[in-house]
Amino acid sequence: MVAASLKCSRLRAMSHSTSGTIHRPNPGPVLNRARTVLQEVFGYHDFRPGQAEVIGAVLGGRDTLAVMPTGGGKSLCFQVPAILAERSLTVVVSPLLALMKDQVDALRQDGVPAAAVNSTVPRDEQMRIMEGAANGRLRMLYVAPERFGDAAFMAVLRRINVSLLAIDEAHCISQWGHDFRPSYRDLGNVRARIGDPPIVALTATADPLVRDDIVAKLELREPVVHVAGFDRPNLRFDAVHVKSQKEKAERITEKLRELGDEPAIIYCGTRKKVEALTDHLQRQRIRCARYHAGMPDEDRQRIQEAFARDSLRIIVATNAFGMGIDKPDVRMVLHHDIPESLESYYQEAGRAGRDGEPAECVLYFAPRDRQLREFFIDLSHPEPHVVVDVYRALVSHQGRRVHIREVMQEDDEPGVNAAVLALVESGLAGRQGQMVWATRPGGEGEIDTAVLEAHREHSFQKLDAMQRYAESMTCLRARILDYFGDEGHERACGNCGPCVAPPAARNVLEGEDEELFQALRAVRRRFADEANLPPFTIFNDATLREMARRRPRTRTEMLTVSGVGNVKFERYGEAFLAVTRSHARSAAAPVPARATRAAADAPIRGRDGKTIAPTARQTLELYRRGFDIPRIAAERGLAVTTIVGHIGDLVMRGEIDDVAQWVDAATVERVRAAAGPGPIGPLGPLKEKLGDSVTYEQLHLARAWINRGMRA
Ligand code: ADP
Ligand code: ZN
Repeated sequence: MVAASLKCSRLRAMSHSTSGTIHRPNPGPVLNRARTVLQEVFGYHDFRPGQAEVIGAVLGGRDTLAVMPTGGGKSLCFQVPAILAERSLTVVVSPLLALMKDQVDALRQDGVPAAAVNSTVPRDEQMRIMEGAANGRLRMLYVAPERFGDAAFMAVLRRINVSLLAIDEAHCISQWGHDFRPSYRDLGNVRARIGDPPIVALTATADPLVRDDIVAKLELREPVVHVAGFDRPNLRFDAVHVKSQKEKAERITEKLRELGDEPAIIYCGTRKKVEALTDHLQRQRIRCARYHAGMPDEDRQRIQEAFARDSLRIIVATNAFGMGIDKPDVRMVLHHDIPESLESYYQEAGRAGRDGEPAECVLYFAPRDRQLREFFIDLSHPEPHVVVDVYRALVSHQGRRVHIREVMQEDDEPGVNAAVLALVESGLAGRQGQMVWATRPGGEGEIDTAVLEAHREHSFQKLDAMQRYAESMTCLRARILDYFGDEGHERACGNCGPCVAPPAARNVLEGEDEELFQALRAVRRRFADEANLPPFTIFNDATLREMARRRPRTRTEMLTVSGVGNVKFERYGEAFLAVTRSHARSAAAPVPARATRAAADAPIRGRDGKTIAPTARQTLELYRRGFDIPRIAAERGLAVTTIVGHIGDLVMRGEIDDVAQWVDAATVERVRAAAGPGPIGPLGPLKEKLGDSVTYEQLHLARAWINRGMRA
């Protein structure tokens, strides 16, 4: 990476121009049209954070860089403008065939003319697709980056009115990113060759270095950079410390038993670990399949499809699994090993709960886990002296070709491959297959050891941050958000391991609702099997759950369910309505509140504007649900006095408006009289005066009540 790295100082210098510029669009008539598309085509009622801003910028013809977390809804940011741009085409660059196929399938289900052209599409069908594009019939064309090297394809594309070039997973263009792809390298010159449309680049990577690199490599012009909120409130984070690998496997097994019949992914750091964990889980009678890059393509394909189609629930995988996974209803992502960076972690963990429903992300961490990652850093970013040593060794062969394994004396020296790559990129070495040679002697001074060291150091810093997360005693969400530069969030979220929330209320439906949900799933399954499509492209689980809860009886009611757009209603609406109608509630019965709703509604800030600590928030929540103090204490596993303390604070802060259920008015008056005028201080002297006629708890709450009145 010597050559590519040389540009880094220039990129650093411009980092201020792009990082964190938040664009506030003026929500004019264009956005109203976007909203109509959102509602009518996709059946969604509201934009997710950032979507309106990005769509506004794109519709305004600006180059745009959208940074949003995985599952944040990036696709809509170019799909909505594409649908609005009639008689012209949006070209979408995407790195993975499976991902393209899913998106195209889903769009077609919504009645949007979209297609993908890639190496798996037969030539005659490609021709047909391109014809449709030329006739203005197609709204969106998904392509792999290699396509732009195909002369015939480019010839057609040049004749078409391309209104927008969308580049998905744009971080793949940057060598500073965690997923550099050589095929992305040449995207910079594509725009000029297809009629100069504006570009929207999308990524979930927030590293400023990578962002700047995207802007530079794609030559974005005065781009609007939108960094959306990175928070994914429906994800519950946890980091579990274990003593040994054996304990890890046990804890993961336990965790999976909580899962029920829902999808989960478990990530492991190496293929070997994938094998070992899969074997372990299968011995424990947990049905799962393995997935890693060492397996034959057909096997991988088959497993990926089974997972997409819900016939396989649990996948144990390396990070080779996932880029193509668009599945919205993954309920758990467990990490058996720490990834290289928080970017990687958040991207992988973020595959949970894309549908916005509650999901869990748990990282298991044992003391020696860091070593594996350090070894990987040595492989990909060897110490500079290794590069120098490799060069010297090659020179000593006087230009003769040698097998790469024979270059170094100690053949277990990690990083030889990466060192050779660096030398090749800087023109000091050549490589063909496994054979390598020095192109010339005397080039040692050209090896930029400072840059090599910078890359290595960058990797270590990312690993440090990852480890701090794994070992964190404080809010994990706050750590993630801090890392991504997301400002203005709470210091404690109340929904992660260290925040000691009670287990997140899973979004379970009860009794009849659950039955209905299963019936709706069966209908979905029938359609999916008939059309040979992944079920979620018909309706996702979140949509089916909402149907089960609300039981629409009419077309109009069905159209208000999130995820039911016009075209989907025409196709499937009646079939699902037939089921919901047969379960219809009596008209007067109110829609039951969601199980998770209550917890989410606890205020983060009090009426006084100050934060309410998560633990007090939980107490308040339970109080509002009608639990009394002893019950709250039992529920939370805390002492009664602790809960009384919370309640007292909440009374003082005006969050709880009444203490009559704990202390009657007469007792309050007795306390007031005994205390005399002014705010009440310590309770000890009062307790002595009043004796056993008043309990400590009553005293505490009476004091809160009285003191609150005085401050007001
Ligand atoms: P990303 O590409 O950012 O990882 P996707 O574009 O795949 O995320 O979106 C994730 C999920 O969220 C999809 O199932 C998508 O249909 C859904 N989604 C996107 N925008 C909205 C919205 N405004 N309201 C409800 N669901 C949405
Ligand atoms: Zn937290």
